[in-house]
Amino acid sequence: MGAGSVCFQRPGRNLAVRVGREEEGISSLRPELAAIARTLQATSLEVDLLYLCDSEAALNKVSRWIGSGPRTTLAGDANADIMTSIIECVRERVLRGARTFLVKVKAHRGEPLNERADTQAENARQLPSECRQWKTRTQRMTYEWNDNDGVKHVTAWSKAVRNAMLRGGAEFQRKKALNRAANNWNKAFLCSTDIVLHRIGQAASTGAQSDLMDSTRWGWSCMFQLQEADNWEKPAATTWAAEILFRDGESREFLGLWINSSVVHEAKKRRAKQVITCSFPCGKWLHMIGARASPGCELCKRERNMDLKPTNVLPTETVAHIQSAGCKALKKSVIGAHNSCWKYLIGAVCTHGEATRDLEFLGGDKDKQLEKLWAETKIGNILTWDEIADEAERLLESD
Ligand SMILES: [Zn+2]
Repeated sequence: MGAGSVCFQRPGRNLAVRVGREEEGISSLRPELAAIARTLQATSLEVDLLYLCDSEAALNKVSRWIGSGPRTTLAGDANADIMTSIIECVRERVLRGARTFLVKVKAHRGEPLNERADTQAENARQLPSECRQWKTRTQRMTYEWNDNDGVKHVTAWSKAVRNAMLRGGAEFQRKKALNRAANNWNKAFLCSTDIVLHRIGQAASTGAQSDLMDSTRWGWSCMFQLQEADNWEKPAATTWAAEILFRDGESREFLGLWINSSVVHEAKKRRAKQVITCSFPCGKWLHMIGARASPGCELCKRERNMDLKPTNVLPTETVAHIQSAGCKALKKSVIGAHNSCWKYLIGAVCTHGEATRDLEFLGGDKDKQLEKLWAETKIGNILTWDEIADEAERLLESD
């Protein structure tokens, strides 16, 4: 970081200072404060000073120290070293009767003094590291990470650190899922006992992985192929939730917007995150962490107790179980929820769809008996009711 200032009355008098402690992160405020401090140090205590500064943040910081107020403390302030210097200089100047004016000017407007000060700051940044001032470390912990382009960053705790941690955690989970996809691929496509096929399998999963593509790309390829194979019995990687989140074009960005939205209630967001991360406190999960003796569904148990049926073998209380009609106790509400979602979608399609579309929704927002539907619409012109009835009878007989 570099700071610089120029003197209007003595054009040869340029100040430049390389500001230390870059290992706690590069900030824009710190060199701006350093420029103020360095100028105050270099100015005689007998003359008035008019300092033109293009940093509002720096001026706000200094102005808190005019008069007294509840926030005038340097405790925990990362720039306390420089601020101490500024406050001491200004106090000294007040005692000697010299006036100090700090004025905000706009930056990068081609103003010659401002441009020259910027050049000074840039020169200062390139000074050798032994010229650094204000380089004593604070007690703050620093964090180091590589961004998407492999550029290394080091800084004290900041929003950027938080985001890098979130990204790292997500990438770890993604990697885990992709590794699973690669394993599933091996199982699905290389299960032959044929020794030659087996060797091809090994070459594909290890050789190609290291020579032609990294393990992440290999994992993606495996997952895409498994998804194309459309084996609906199990997901390509880990869970069905991961399956949807991994697929492009499934509008997962809307899920992100919804989770980040301030109008959505926190409890709803928490629930969504729990489901996505497979940590929803259903019976299976509670059993896994040792908080419940059995992973079986409590609602199914209650239902069976009421019907005086045996409860020794119960369905596992997974999220899928309690959100589907598979759970007898929840069947009615789950079907009700499903129907209202469906009706909402149909209604929205009818209202907002293109007027010239070839598609017509029969039945509207009410469920109707098939026979009634045939009687009320022209659908019988395409397929007669008798044909439907015959087919239904044939199915019933074959059952
Ligand atoms: Zn159940």
